[in-house]
Amino acid sequence: MNFTLTIEVIAAMIIVLLVIYSLDEKSARNTRTRSYRCCLYVSLAAIAADALSVWGIRHIMEIPVWVNVAISSLNYLLVNFNSAVLALYLSGQIFEHFPKHHYKKKIFAVIAAMYGIVALAVVGNLFSGCLFGFENGQYVRGPLNLLGYAVLISYVALVGISYLVNSKIASASMRNAMRTMPYVVCGVVMLQLLYRNVMMNGMVAALVDLILFLSFQSSRNSADYLTNLGNRGAFVEELAVWTRRKRRFHVVLLSLNKFGSVNREFGQKNGDEFLYAVARYLDNFSANARAYRLGSLEFALLCPEEDCRRIGHCIEIIRERFTRPWEIGDMEYRLSVSFADILWNGQDWDGTQIIERLEYAMIQAKAKGSNGWVHFDERLNEMMEHQKHMIEQMREAIANENFAVYYQPIYCWGVDLFCSAEALVRMIDKDGRIVLPNEFIPLGETTGLIKEISWIIVEKVCAFMASHPNLGLKGITINMSMQQFMDAEMEHILDKIVRKYGIDYHVLKIEITERIVSEDPEKAKKIMESLTQKGVCFYLDDFGTGYSNFSVVLSLPFDTIKLDKSLTDKVLGTEKEREIVGSIVEMFVKAGYSIVAEGAETEQMVEELKKLHVDRIQGYYYSRPLPDAEFVKFMRNKKD
Ligand code: C2E
Ligand code: CA
Ligand code: CA
Repeated sequence: MNFTLTIEVIAAMIIVLLVIYSLDEKSARNTRTRSYRCCLYVSLAAIAADALSVWGIRHIMEIPVWVNVAISSLNYLLVNFNSAVLALYLSGQIFEHFPKHHYKKKIFAVIAAMYGIVALAVVGNLFSGCLFGFENGQYVRGPLNLLGYAVLISYVALVGISYLVNSKIASASMRNAMRTMPYVVCGVVMLQLLYRNVMMNGMVAALVDLILFLSFQSSRNSADYLTNLGNRGAFVEELAVWTRRKRRFHVVLLSLNKFGSVNREFGQKNGDEFLYAVARYLDNFSANARAYRLGSLEFALLCPEEDCRRIGHCIEIIRERFTRPWEIGDMEYRLSVSFADILWNGQDWDGTQIIERLEYAMIQAKAKGSNGWVHFDERLNEMMEHQKHMIEQMREAIANENFAVYYQPIYCWGVDLFCSAEALVRMIDKDGRIVLPNEFIPLGETTGLIKEISWIIVEKVCAFMASHPNLGLKGITINMSMQQFMDAEMEHILDKIVRKYGIDYHVLKIEITERIVSEDPEKAKKIMESLTQKGVCFYLDDFGTGYSNFSVVLSLPFDTIKLDKSLTDKVLGTEKEREIVGSIVEMFVKAGYSIVAEGAETEQMVEELKKLHVDRIQGYYYSRPLPDAEFVKFMRNKKD
């Protein structure tokens, strides 16, 4: 018999190429890639055995029969081993996220058993010649010669059935593989049966390897490894395509909250399975929708508006789904998610701009708490534009040090003097308008720009104190933000500024809120103690807003408590409210703190505060915050 190896040579070349490509994988250390590489090496070994057996048959007269029998047996075993390995790989992929692991084990056992039959047949062949034999210098096919193909087709059937049973949770890659693989295998087997002298076993393997590569491996740049959904890059590209198509579509962004507790409760592996379940749900959402995994806990769904009209609003359907628990085997869990969505109907936004808007809406949704949802509409668009504009303004103001410090005098009624003042920042925008701190400080905190702004203010205040030593002030208070106060370099920078202007630490008073200290009370204590030793006084700002943890406050070296306006206002409230404010003041005074009442606007309020014996009063009643020159005038007038 004259066997031809041309097709096997091509098959070997294809596999070598696949090996080279798979070695180039960045994620080479994951199990899927490692198993895939094993498949390739086994395929190469099988082709080598095929070629060796053809060589043996060609030289049948020159080599002993037993050598030929051994080579052809090895070939039979390896070619079938290759089919078994590929079947195992595919079943592994199909059952990767299937909760009942005993199914996977059963399928593996069936594949192993089928290979066992082939191996037994090869051993039996040594005695019976049921598969092949060598007679009269000829290779002769036995009655069971086609057993290998029968087993191969059974593997295909087994994999096909396993896939169909699991098709609901199968990934897009698996779907791609199954769309082609069974047909290609059956087609090549039929060709092989038609042209029996042309060796094609290696080509079957090479084509399956190629399909696996195209389905599972080559998508490495655009697919998320765990869920096989497209990643962020793929999402941006797809958005570009959808916006070009000019058909309206919805984008839903989902962000899982507190997922750490899922991992803690069920373990990391099962946590991954919950993520996979969410991914599959989104992936199968509707015929034309596309799902993506943008970050570890962030998913997005692109849904054409026609689909939304047909099956209902996608955001409503998804939100409803998340009110119910997710089941993985016998575990179930209700996942907490925040939602943001946007309708694209022709706006001039590219992919990145759409994502930027969704993420902006997501921040608002997260602020709403568990399962919050925000639709990105015109109002949000304006807010976002305003915010962007404000950030730009802040950057520009920082570059040009375009901030002004206003000083609000504080009245010490016991000595009838304005003995201190609070420094309050104002930003000057490029049109020279004054922007109040509430408009930019919160944004400065989220963007981190606050640190730079804060140090500009400290420097301006120190410069002011150095050039106006005779205003009769015992000190000026500055407000510190969390980032500035907790900065490892804070003391060092403060020290540099204080020395630069020759200021005494005793005139520096720092106002911080309880929110800042409760973030890390131990660290706060260290910083405060160190600065207190140098002479700095600390004021607890905004006392009475939100909840107070007295044990934290009492454990820290605060000198003064500033009653927030909301609390100060209560002195004109009901009897009970006045009692409460009175008791709070009394308690702090007894504990040795000084008290400043903020936000006193009327004479009546001032009188009530005096009755409570607060030490100092700050408010519009005495003066609004004043630009430095006016503040100097104010102080000089009061002194005279
Ligand atoms: P705050 O520290 O509570 O400052 C007191 C705020 O109350 C000031 O608002 C002041 O103008 C206002 N105020 C004073 N008396 C009255 C009154 O009688 N009635 C009313 N309705 N309001 C009164 P401002 O200057 O707009 O500052 C707002 C907030 O911005 C400050 O609240 C502080 O949290 C922050 N801030 C101001 N300057 C700085 C700064 O340099 N650094 C940092 N980190 N935050 C600052
Ligand atoms: Ca303050
Ligand atoms: Ca305050």
